[in-house]
Amino acid sequence: DSSSGSSGFASKGSFPGRIPAAIGRKRLRIVVTGGAGFVGSHLVDKLISRGDEVIVIDNFFTGRKDNLVHLFGNPRFELIRHDVVDPILLEVDQIYHLACPASPVHYKYNPTNVMGTLNMLGLAKRVGARFLLTSTSEVYGDPLEHPQKETYWGNVNPIGERSCYDEGKRTAETLAMDYNRGADVEVRIARIFNTYGPRMCLDDGRVVSNFVAQAIRKQPMTVYGDGKQTRSFQYVSDLVDGLVALMEGEHVGPFNLGNPGEFTMLELAEVVKETIDSSATIEFRPNTADDPHKRKPDISKAKELLNWEPKISLREGLPLMVNDFRSRILEGDEGRGL
Ligand code: NAD
Ligand code: UDP
Ligand code: UDP
Repeated sequence: DSSSGSSGFASKGSFPGRIPAAIGRKRLRIVVTGGAGFVGSHLVDKLISRGDEVIVIDNFFTGRKDNLVHLFGNPRFELIRHDVVDPILLEVDQIYHLACPASPVHYKYNPTNVMGTLNMLGLAKRVGARFLLTSTSEVYGDPLEHPQKETYWGNVNPIGERSCYDEGKRTAETLAMDYNRGADVEVRIARIFNTYGPRMCLDDGRVVSNFVAQAIRKQPMTVYGDGKQTRSFQYVSDLVDGLVALMEGEHVGPFNLGNPGEFTMLELAEVVKETIDSSATIEFRPNTADDPHKRKPDISKAKELLNWEPKISLREGLPLMVNDFRSRILEGDEGRGL
């Protein structure tokens, strides 16, 4: 696994054959939908390394077997190629539901958020499993409250280009709460803010992966609009810790999981430049429709109730994804004859 070394946490104890850490409690059987993706594969590493059994359901829409190949052969790990839009029967204790086309270039194509979430909630109800939904800061839309608290209901355009994602996740939250109230399913809702790290999809158009890949390829970093819009960037191991704390805790949520450090896209470009290549340049491009002007989580609820807060700043986290990106870009570019 080329990326686990640079992520700083995935390599420790995640390899088959280690004595399970889950001493003193029952070994759990856990489904991770979307487990072949960026966040999912890091979560799977953590669950395997603490000694649990993990079943990944993924249709490889944006995920890759490469993200999990280091677990093949581990008897506590299983990978099922399946689209969560179709029902599935399994017997499990917990469901982490991540499956979703998560980037603007992909998420228009798929009813996963509604049908996939319904099926996973139906599964949770049938077997009495605890269900965690990975919702998103996008439920706040272009927010009129700053920073965003969980009590804010959001400002989403229901008919815009982003709305299938935003409204899809809002519907998924609604379904989760309905199953919680109506069928006593134990649900947990995480609202995830922009997250980055090794194994991020290389070409799915998100800003951190774009800038890092562009700087490595010696191409200009593409800043959309005037670059003054802000985002708050969280390193993936912090998110994974938050997801597990939420699943294991007693609170339904929703909980914001994000790093409150707020950066403009121009500032992000500057950090990427300092980290990767001091000669990197930027190039302005027109912005996309309905782009939120600013976004920053208020994480006091997660701090208080989950005892969780992120530990890794952008300047610490960015270097941890560079080796992984470099080697994948080299392979890919060589593959394309570049
Ligand atoms: P990703 O694209 O790397 O992972 C998503 C995974 O889901 C992929 O492996 C994909 O193949 C799989 N998938 C998609 N549709 C599926 C379907 N119908 N059936 C089965 N599998 C399917 O994205 P990610 O960044 O790892 O995101 C994981 C979750 O976190 C998503 O639900 C996303 O909405 C949420 N989230 C992520 C971020 C972020 O910044 N990364 C921010 C907010 C929310
Ligand atoms: N479902 C599933 N696996 C299960 C149980 C249910 O995929 O183990 C699906 C089921 O096919 C349905 C959805 O989850 O499409 C919701 O199930 P639920 O039992 O809540 O609703 P119902 O089938 O009663 O409408
Ligand atoms: N963005 C950019 N250059 C890029 C890709 C994105 O300036 O190459 C901007 C985009 O307009 C948005 C911000 O970066 O303002 C974050 O975009 P991303 O798609 O990563 O996340 P999201 O909009 O979902 O928060």
